[in-house]
Amino acid sequence: MSIPFIDLKSQYREVEDAVKSGIDAVLEHGKYVMGPEITELEEKLAAFAETKHAVGCASGTDALLMALMALGVGPGDAVFTTPFTFMATAETVSLLGATPVFVDIDPVTFNLDPADLRRKIEEVKEKGKLTCKGVIAVDLFGLSADYDRIEQRAHNNGMFLIVDAAQSFGATYHGKRTTSFGDVACTSFFPAKPLGCYGDGGMCFANSDEMDALLRSIRVHGSGEDKYDNVRIGINGRLDSMQAAVLLAKFAIFPGEMDRRDEVAARYGELLHDVPGVTPPTVPEGYRSVWAQYSLLAESNEHREELMGRLKAKDIPSVIYYPIPLHLQTAYKNLGYQPGDLPVCEDVASRIFSLPMHPYLTAEQQETVVAALKSSC
Ligand SMILES: *Cc1c(COP(=O)(O)O)cnc(C)c1O
Repeated sequence: MSIPFIDLKSQYREVEDAVKSGIDAVLEHGKYVMGPEITELEEKLAAFAETKHAVGCASGTDALLMALMALGVGPGDAVFTTPFTFMATAETVSLLGATPVFVDIDPVTFNLDPADLRRKIEEVKEKGKLTCKGVIAVDLFGLSADYDRIEQRAHNNGMFLIVDAAQSFGATYHGKRTTSFGDVACTSFFPAKPLGCYGDGGMCFANSDEMDALLRSIRVHGSGEDKYDNVRIGINGRLDSMQAAVLLAKFAIFPGEMDRRDEVAARYGELLHDVPGVTPPTVPEGYRSVWAQYSLLAESNEHREELMGRLKAKDIPSVIYYPIPLHLQTAYKNLGYQPGDLPVCEDVASRIFSLPMHPYLTAEQQETVVAALKSSC
């Protein structure tokens, strides 16, 4: 019995008919890009995401890029974000010539630490070289960042807030979807994300009509009145109709999958109770995670190697998200960060690893995973 890290095959069995008829419909009507499926998807997901508007686009990376462009980010701007995330979060800031300023993380939630955000904002202001322009918070592993504190800190300093909800579509913070926070929230439909398509896709969520219009224009080369009237610089950020058809089929079972993810996570929590030295993830009171990953902390870097080795010996996959924090990436050498600059993030990166996690994981498979963690080899 091999245990997949993410089981998209079992999921496909659940949605096969709906996916095939959805794709068939696209092949018949022939509007392969930005067809009627896009509007239907945008309406359904905006309602679910608890925003007035949703703008489908080509990837989570494009969603972030479009949001940053709409918010006028450019050279000389500082955008505060977490170093413990996927490269796209900061990369899009750099692509626009702005400077990512990395903020340390909370040791329990692994998300941006609001107290360190305050310190980093003060530092940038004191140096006087960059304009404090905005904050990108990430809901890592499907768990919401602390929006009450982060949003207040951003707005008190005249900054925008972008929610990088690439891993958290569906998650809630004190009863509200994470996608309902910020000036724009961005998600990804990459196949491995909680709601994924069969290729690349993404979406921006916003409440303001102006923001919606800006995002729609930027999505199609800065279009104005029509396709060949260009009023600003934009990108080709369109979503394919086939991917939207896939998402419509998968969205129908998504709330049920969220419940199953909760059950799987709760079962891991129970099973891991008597595994010495591992810290299972914590979901703070009032939060609901969508469990994009189930990530544990080992006691040390060596302990992590030992635990992952035990899993590997039993052919059970485990992955490190993320082994190198962004401030220590080669691509960001020019920013001048040194090891030790963001100590909580660096410590977490040296000890964290993720177990197989998906809605179709059985109790038996989970018992096998945890037994392997306990085994001696
Ligand atoms: C996946 C991811 C992205 C990028 O999404 P793509 O669809 O792969 O471009 C951005 N931010 C985070 C936190 C992600 O996990």
